[in-house]
Amino acid sequence: MIVIFLGPPGAGKGTQAKRIVEKRGIPQLSTGDMLRAAVKAQTPVGLQAKAVMDSGNLVSDDIVAGIVAERIKEKDCRRGFMLDGFPRTLNQAELLDGILTDQSRELDIVLELQVDNEALVERMKTRIADTKAAGGDVRADDNEETFRHRLEVYNRETAPLIPHYGKKGVLFAVNGMKSIDAVSLEIDIVLDSVKDGVEGLH
Ligand code: AMP
Repeated sequence: MIVIFLGPPGAGKGTQAKRIVEKRGIPQLSTGDMLRAAVKAQTPVGLQAKAVMDSGNLVSDDIVAGIVAERIKEKDCRRGFMLDGFPRTLNQAELLDGILTDQSRELDIVLELQVDNEALVERMKTRIADTKAAGGDVRADDNEETFRHRLEVYNRETAPLIPHYGKKGVLFAVNGMKSIDAVSLEIDIVLDSVKDGVEGLH
């Protein structure tokens, strides 16, 4: 099953994605995590991406599409995968279409996690406080100003993917304002219906 997980920063995609991974046995491919790993390893991509990421802007479409195209060829993606944080622009969505076609694969579903913008800012502040309290490292792009900028970038660049996938008939919206367990349950119901309907056809 090939799933795109769509939603603004801080909507809880990471938390929900981990649960889906455990339950469905498909890997979560987070372009943010992959880019952060590249930054840490100081690869050429990482060196190029660091300043862009720290400012809350988007890394170039070609770089992220290239990373994804290679990653999904790996063995653990054979039964499917969940894209978290990609595509983020209409151009990336088109690049993804090309990548999937080249690899004779097909997208099954786009899950949209819907969360109110102000609630996201509050969640982000809690996430920082919790991370600090636990002695962890706070992400360079986790501060209120950069976070609000990331939200703006999401609304401008990524939100247009919602009607785009809606027209294709693959979009399912989930209410991300409920509790973590309630959101998981809703996602499970949606993914089960996809599994029953289309898995095995690809
Ligand atoms: P995330 O962990 O998904 O919030 O991503 C953190 C940062 O990585 C973003 O603010 C972007 O700078 C960069 N990034 C992650 N995924 C993408 C993508 N698909 N396209 C462009 N930039 C991305």
